[in-house]
Amino acid sequence: MIVPAIPLGYTTPPPGVGIPYGATNPATQPYTMPTLRWDTAHWPITVYIPPAPPILGLSQQDCVHALNTWQAYCSSSPLVTLADRPAQAAIQLQWHPLPPTAHPNMCGHTQIQVSAHTGHIVGANLTIITNAAIDQRLTIPQRQQRIRATLGHEMGHALGLRHSVDTQSLMHPQQGWRFTTPSAQDILQCQRLYGHR
Ligand SMILES: [Zn+2]
Repeated sequence: MIVPAIPLGYTTPPPGVGIPYGATNPATQPYTMPTLRWDTAHWPITVYIPPAPPILGLSQQDCVHALNTWQAYCSSSPLVTLADRPAQAAIQLQWHPLPPTAHPNMCGHTQIQVSAHTGHIVGANLTIITNAAIDQRLTIPQRQQRIRATLGHEMGHALGLRHSVDTQSLMHPQQGWRFTTPSAQDILQCQRLYGHR
């Protein structure tokens, strides 16, 4: 999630390298169909989740639940499973304070890795900002919901979903932090990639 003041752009990614995903500006980048996806034969996706900063009050299972937001729409079996160590995981999650150079409204960021061999997504790095500017206006429960929504939003990017122009969507770049469940448009995007379940 990022605000439109930073048009980082979205380009067709070269295979085999880390790709910033979702840093799109809907004002200048028209909505495009997602094309990159995982090979579901390799699911569940292993995820490494370091302990959340205590102030967030979120357990590992809370985080898994948020990442599994998409499971009902793309997988008939568990979507993610916890890895004990980062090296064992296809998805690495990190909690990070807002970088000084980042836009203050940034809530999270995702980079995906694509196999040059198969063209499928094979990994992702999810960064969840622990002190987004919006948090100053939120109560603790609202802040926990913001983090859950950010986890779901960034997991959407990890699955290959792009930003939605629908302001009611979890995948909307500015409003997604308000929602912890995918909208009809989010679900449609997910099903275009992974079929109906
Ligand atoms: Zn995003």
